[in-house]
Amino acid sequence: MQKAAKTNPTQPKRLSTIEKWDIETDVAIVGYGGAGACAAIEAADADAKVTLFELASDGGGSTALSSGEVYYGGHGGTPIQKACGFEDSTENMFKYLMASIGPTADEAKVRNYCENSLAHYQWMVDKGAVYKHSFHDRRAIIPMTDDGLLYSGNEKTWPYSEQATPCPRGHALEIEGDNGGPLLWKIISEQVQKRGVDIRYDARVLTLIADDNNAVHGLVVRIDQQELNVKARGGVVLSAGGFCMNQPMLEKYAPKLARGNYPVGNPGDTGTGILMGMGVGANAINMNEGFISMPFYPPAETTSGIFVNAQGQRFVSEDSYHSRVAHYVLQQPQGRVYLIQHADDDYTPPPLLNADIAGTGETIEELEEELKLPIGMLKHTVKYYNQHAANGEDPLFHKAAEWLKPIEPPFVGLDCSADRGVILPYFTLGGLETQPSGEVLNLNGDIIPGLYAAGRTAAGVPRTGEGYNSGTSVGDATFSGRLAGKAAATRKT
Ligand SMILES: Cc1cc2nc3c(=O)[nH]c(=O)nc-3n(C[C@H](O)[C@H](O)[C@H](O)COP(=O)(O)OP(=O)(O)OC[C@H]3O[C@@H](n4cnc5c(N)ncnc54)[C@H](O)[C@@H]3O)c2cc1C
Repeated sequence: MQKAAKTNPTQPKRLSTIEKWDIETDVAIVGYGGAGACAAIEAADADAKVTLFELASDGGGSTALSSGEVYYGGHGGTPIQKACGFEDSTENMFKYLMASIGPTADEAKVRNYCENSLAHYQWMVDKGAVYKHSFHDRRAIIPMTDDGLLYSGNEKTWPYSEQATPCPRGHALEIEGDNGGPLLWKIISEQVQKRGVDIRYDARVLTLIADDNNAVHGLVVRIDQQELNVKARGGVVLSAGGFCMNQPMLEKYAPKLARGNYPVGNPGDTGTGILMGMGVGANAINMNEGFISMPFYPPAETTSGIFVNAQGQRFVSEDSYHSRVAHYVLQQPQGRVYLIQHADDDYTPPPLLNADIAGTGETIEELEEELKLPIGMLKHTVKYYNQHAANGEDPLFHKAAEWLKPIEPPFVGLDCSADRGVILPYFTLGGLETQPSGEVLNLNGDIIPGLYAAGRTAAGVPRTGEGYNSGTSVGDATFSGRLAGKAAATRKT
């Protein structure tokens, strides 16, 4: 007897082969994380029948694991920004995001995100999010306090600091410690439950159901070892996260991310949402890009050190956001990078970095020798840096004056080369090309009827590690999920 072919995400089931529908709904959502939950809320509010399919035994995905930080601003400022003394115009936010994301930015999406940012903030607050009116005035990846606002990107880093007025936009929920994600998830999942949405757990979506023109009519899901055909009258929303847990896919599409050693995601981040879209002809874009970080702070004081490469030369402003630094670290010739700092008797390396001490020295010559750098290069770099730092200047990279002070002996050099133990967390930022509404586009730029994507399954607002701002991923997932849910619900009639 011939074995039945395995259902494959890149091979849609053809509508003409469907003999019966096992489940019928208006909006079928693949993945119950941040984007899926927000899609469900909006679709239900638009009077659609919504069915959510989640492969795990509970919802949350990476959103529930995250710090829950969201990037909001514009419109003169959110109430928190205003209370903390920051004025933020929509144009200023737009200019900053476009400049920091760079040439791969989707202008229409960035504009839409900025123009609706205050409304999205208000939507979250109406759903139960509480942000304390306090500014975290320390450089941090996330505040471990319950402060509501912090700088979470490269806003104060040159050249962006000259292209837009620096303004903090990272909003953290009022909770101490790294607990924002679970709290955010509690808030939005309660809203989903309140609306009586049909949620199917332990339900892995396998592929889409499409007609011969690739218009999407539903999906195939495996529940209790049965493959069920689901009809979605309005459409299918793919909100299944990214692909940081799929090693072959990473190596194929994003080899530079494959150099990372700490996937930042959940076990469901295997790219099936993206593959299902590709199966019906969707255009997958930005697939080589992702967030890759090197957590060299906290403590904030590490910013006063300098990164040098195998030539003993600096290559980045150390006041950059951690993923911007990682982006440049990975580009250095011969792959070697050291963080040079002053080391007192009680020196300890930055706790999250996991970097080995590669050398120490009472003099810079001694350190240079221990690090096996070309004779004289590190000496020159440190001398030049110190000379200008003493005057509060950094002619090469324009590090902000608050971090500029000469590096005094004794010295330490931490090995920050990739592949030598330093922590390099990463997640993907490539996905399906969509309109700001969430409608998925094919290779010709035409809309694929009945198909929507949101969150990390789509190529959204955040596009690169170099230009990443913390809060833009949860911000984009929740915002794009809302738009996709609304659009699919509207199409049902
Ligand atoms: C530790 C950590 C901290 C972070 N901190 C922040 C932060 O503070 N701010 C920020 O902006 N970003 C942060 N991020 C990134 C951010 O959390 C994610 O990029 C974002 O939440 C992704 O949302 P999503 O809805 O696209 O995917 P998810 O929330 O991951 O949801 C996707 C869901 O789809 C399910 N799924 C996958 N495939 C299938 C399938 N075939 N069938 C059914 N279900 C499927 C998954 O199980 C998952 O539940 C962090 C991430 C992590 C892991």
